[in-house]
Parts: sequence; structure tokens; C-alpha cells
Amino acid sequence: MKKMICVEDLSYEYKGQDEMIRALDHISFTIEPGKFVAILGHNGSGKSTLAKLLNGLLLPTDGHVIIDGMDTQDLEKIWEIRSTAGMVFQNPDNQLVATIVEEDIAFGPENLGVPQAEIQERVDRALATVEMSAFRDRAPHLLSGGQKQRIAIAGVLAMEPACIIFDEPTAMLDPSGRREVLDTILKLNREEKKTILLITHYMDEAILADRVLVMEKGKIVMDDVPKKIFNQVERMKGLGLDIPQVTDLTHQLIEAGYPLSEDILSIEEMVDELCQYL
Ligand code: ADP
Ligand code: MG
Repeated sequence: MKKMICVEDLSYEYKGQDEMIRALDHISFTIEPGKFVAILGHNGSGKSTLAKLLNGLLLPTDGHVIIDGMDTQDLEKIWEIRSTAGMVFQNPDNQLVATIVEEDIAFGPENLGVPQAEIQERVDRALATVEMSAFRDRAPHLLSGGQKQRIAIAGVLAMEPACIIFDEPTAMLDPSGRREVLDTILKLNREEKKTILLITHYMDEAILADRVLVMEKGKIVMDDVPKKIFNQVERMKGLGLDIPQVTDLTHQLIEAGYPLSEDILSIEEMVDELCQYL
């Protein structure tokens, strides 16, 4: 099957004070179009470095990154790669460039040389997708955190990427902002069929993915569906990672002798499981 992302034996080193810092160490994986993949790993494991390599902001020290058939080391393809694999960062304030929402969203396609009439269509469509059409004339800095992040997402959408890489997009948001952004990400995957890579430290976000990659010291140490990642409770804790609250409770109940399934990830699944014993 055609791959959206192909990472082949990828390594990346930063120049440190007096030595090189190996941030990624011989990583390989592929992602098919339309998938929703979450990436977990504690601080310094290499997640942001990987994200920056995926859209050509950094180039490999060793190995290859191929986005929709294009090698990021092919300098002629760099703009096409950046518009195929869009990036959304943690802090929306660093991504918003204009003083009016619709100008901000138009910025990307303008730089790509898209004709004016089409830019307008793209801006309208992107605003509708993130449900912010009513805010088109507003000043981005007056919006809530969740709204600002949705405008940043619209700015990426206006470049019509097939794939969007989110680097901890909800880390600076309050719970309602997190919900808005997460709902937007799910909609992009399910309705717009975008390939999604979501770097997060929220387990309740990771359980929604088709697949979870876990990073540790520049390597991918786990790669599986969420249920098979989170039922390895001791291993996850050993990697310094949380597991969803419900999974933790399930595990404690199993240890206490209750015959529950190990695969419970959500409150709904927990309720279904417990109802069998009523
Ligand atoms: P994560 O996003 O998982 O927290 P990063 O990709 O930011 O991890 O960092 C991976 C490793 O690379 C860490 O050891 C970090 O200190 C190092 N690193 C990241 N950015 C730089 C940089 N600009 N210069 C030197 N070292 C860096
Ligand atoms: Mg990071």
C-alpha cells in the first residue's frame, strides 16, 4: 500500500557545547494515508526532533524521511513537502502572524503563490472546518487559547496538507480548549481524511489513535494499537509514562482478584464491563 510517511533508519544529532547530542537513533517506521498515530515519550526522548524532521525543518544526519514519495533531502521538493506535511506547535502565539484572523489563514497559501480567488475559498473552507467562521474579522490575540489553536490549525489547512503533525497542541490549553482542539483533530482525521501524527502527554488523547508509538532515548520502543500499549502497565510506568486512569484502576482491580478484561481504556468500556457483574 502507498505510504504517507516513510522513515528509514533515521538518526539526528545536534551540535552540543563540546560533543554531539544524538536525539534520534536509527528509527524506522511507516504510516499509511488516513491513519491517526499518537506519539508518546517523556521529555527529551526525541519527539519534537522527529516532528521537525518529518516536514523538513531539520534534515537527517543519517537515513531518510520520505513524505508522500518525496525525500526531505531533495531541496527542490522542500515547499511541496512542507505543504504536504503541515505542523502545528504547542504555542499558538508563535504561529499566528497577522492581526486579523482571515489574513493569518491566508498567509500560507499567499506564500505558496495560490491565486487570490482560490485563497479566499481556502480561507472560507478552513474557517468552516475549525468552526471559526464567525471570527474571521477578529484579532487573533483576543481569542481564547483553544480558539487561537484552531486558527493556527486553519492556517495549516489552507495549505491543503494531506498530513498534519501536531506537537503537543493542547499542552498550554485549559480543559475546554483542549476539548475543542482534540475534537478538531478527530474531525480532520475522520471527516477530512487527513493523516494525523499527534505528539501528546495526555493518555486520554492517545487512546483515540489507531496506533501509538512510544519513544525513549531517541528510539521507538513500543509500536502498537492503544489497547496493547496501555495494558503493559508496568512497562509504561517504567518508561516514566502514565496510563489512562481507567486502565490503572482496572489493573488494580485485577490484582485484587476481580476478573476484568485487561483491555479497558475508557469510562464507557469500564461501565460495560462492570455491568456484566450486576
Ligand atoms: P522531546 O520533544 O521528546 O522532549 P526533543 O526532540 O526536544 O525531545 O529533544 C531530544 C534531545 O535533543 C534532548 O536530549 C534535547 O536536549 C536535545 N535537543 C533538542 N533540541 C536541541 C538543540 N536545539 N540543541 C541541542 N540539543 C537539543
Ligand atoms: Mg517536545
